[in-house]
Amino acid sequence: MSVFSGKCLCGEVTYTCHSEPKTIFNCHCEDCRRATGSVFGTNLFVPEDKVEISGKVSSYTHTSDSGSTMTKRFCPVCGSLLFGKNSAKVNVLSIRAGTVDQLDLIKPMVNVFMDSKIPSTSIDQNLKQAPRMPS
Ligand SMILES: [Zn+2]
Ligand SMILES: [Zn+2]
Repeated sequence: MSVFSGKCLCGEVTYTCHSEPKTIFNCHCEDCRRATGSVFGTNLFVPEDKVEISGKVSSYTHTSDSGSTMTKRFCPVCGSLLFGKNSAKVNVLSIRAGTVDQLDLIKPMVNVFMDSKIPSTSIDQNLKQAPRMPS
């Protein structure tokens, strides 16, 4: 049974996830900002083996500040960023919240990388905060 689903802007890439999100972060790091083109990124973290992806996905790999290999996966047709993978985290996939179909599912729990947030971005003070990525 699928718990939630999503797709890119053009619909070439679709996915279903058979798990609830384990955590949902608003991430204010520079990588998320530049990769999404938005002032912060919202990521759902799920077990990678619970996600079924259909359609062709392109990827871009870079090294994070902490030295791990980060892979960003996006639709080659419309460019929507959908997934992220950190080599240090086994069986964890991040899904960009803006691609999810079930809008009520997106309930961020923590604002992370507050140290690099854009000054004008307002923050929900009811949520937890972390200066960088909590380990
Ligand atoms: Zn697309
Ligand atoms: Zn980030």
